[in-house]
Amino acid sequence: MTARPPAPAGTRVPDTALAGGVGGVAGGLRTLTAIALDALADGAAERGGPLPAGGPQAVAERTRALCTPMLPRRGTGAADALYDTVRAAAQGAADPADPHCVAHLHCPPLALAAAADLAASALNPSMDSWDQAPAAAVIEEEVSAALARLVYPAAPRPDALITSGGTESNLVALLLARERARAAGTGPVRVLCGRAAHHSVQRAAWLLGLPAPAAVECRDGRMLPAALDRALAGLGGAPALVVATAGTTDEGAVDPLPELARVAASHGAELHVDAAYGGPLLFSDRLAPMLAGIEQAVSVTFDLHKFGWQPVAAGVLALADAGRATALSLRADYLNADDDTEAGLPDLLGRSLRTSRRPDVLKIAATLRGLGRDGLGRLVEHCVDTARELGRTIDADAHLRRRPGEIGISTVLFRPAAADRLAERQGEAAGDALVAEVRRRLLADGLAVLGRARAADPDAGGRRRLWLKATLLHPRTTAGELAGLLKLVTELARDRPVTTPA
Ligand SMILES: *Cc1c(COP(=O)(O)O)cnc(C)c1O
Repeated sequence: MTARPPAPAGTRVPDTALAGGVGGVAGGLRTLTAIALDALADGAAERGGPLPAGGPQAVAERTRALCTPMLPRRGTGAADALYDTVRAAAQGAADPADPHCVAHLHCPPLALAAAADLAASALNPSMDSWDQAPAAAVIEEEVSAALARLVYPAAPRPDALITSGGTESNLVALLLARERARAAGTGPVRVLCGRAAHHSVQRAAWLLGLPAPAAVECRDGRMLPAALDRALAGLGGAPALVVATAGTTDEGAVDPLPELARVAASHGAELHVDAAYGGPLLFSDRLAPMLAGIEQAVSVTFDLHKFGWQPVAAGVLALADAGRATALSLRADYLNADDDTEAGLPDLLGRSLRTSRRPDVLKIAATLRGLGRDGLGRLVEHCVDTARELGRTIDADAHLRRRPGEIGISTVLFRPAAADRLAERQGEAAGDALVAEVRRRLLADGLAVLGRARAADPDAGGRRRLWLKATLLHPRTTAGELAGLLKLVTELARDRPVTTPA
């Protein structure tokens, strides 16, 4: 193990140095930041791949060796504790900046965004009242306006709330629909979503005391407008919120938004689009048409910690009309007393369900300005194009088989041909077990982080089978790097006996 490099001569950082103030940077933050950066570099070098080798037990042992006891009677001092903790986290990280880390909607953050997030931590504005965040509140207003305009270019009064991610955005979307139905006195709102909708839609309905969402039939992972029409007709005029998905988690499928919007409108139902994954396609002029119809939704969930390359958290709930958010408004005398608001202090409390709230907009603002719409659009295009290239490479490889059909946004499902042969000889469970085993071996050896998804196989009579999933969010990964990943899969599928069921 490498020891912490000695601090530059003469620099000693008191354990209780503060990050802020005029003297904050010189008083310790610069020195400590340099130590954290050294630890990041050392930890990443020690890992040497997309994730640590050895599996959960080995990772736990190495990590505990560096950062326990966790609450000693006498502290180790700021510099050592910082170096060891950051090094432990980096050494044992699943690093989405590695081209072989492609399991989830887990993006490599831009250095620009991470650096801005350090400033957010040092300044620590809290977004629940103006007197805690005078400038950050203005930055949030501008970010909200720009993102609202991106989703709703023609709406007279759009708005966007900053959230912790898709889960919170969907929760607030359902809450606003519930409150709208309550204000209209038309009975509880009924939620309808596709079978492939994200689990947070179910959870939100559960949390809000709404009837469980009705699951509308899908084909190829996309909601069928005719099935939605039948489901809405069966509600007998009860208020309804249709939740469409633009980019499903398993397949990247985009629901047919214009058709769903038309069907919803014909029944007087409202449309919400969960575009947590797909929303940033709007940055690209070439790809934005994939989301045609999204502007007909009353609200849109949109994550920037997936496509958007922000560190978690960076979520957005765009609203077609700012008035929809008034249900969130709230008075708390210590944060937004009426006379303060009348005297001109902006009231921030009604923009979130949270009270204390991180200024996640700082990193978003730096990114939007730094890269611009075209720069962000090019990054999204790179991911979408690379997914198509990966698809073609798999199609040309006799050892692998891609799930037939279109590639959803940047998600590629495939499995080793050996799994198909095994399924034929020994049954579906054996084929699926090989797929699962290949994924776990790659994880255990620290070679690759691939996802898994169960989805229909048109080549097997529509049977639901297990697939390996590559979700491409890396804005610079190359087809050559991904070919290396495919080679690993092929070799493991050939060599590894199946030891455990899927
Ligand atoms: C990721 C995702 C969510 C959940 O978002 P978080 O940011 O993880 O809370 C919801 N819906 C879809 C379609 C997603 O891809």
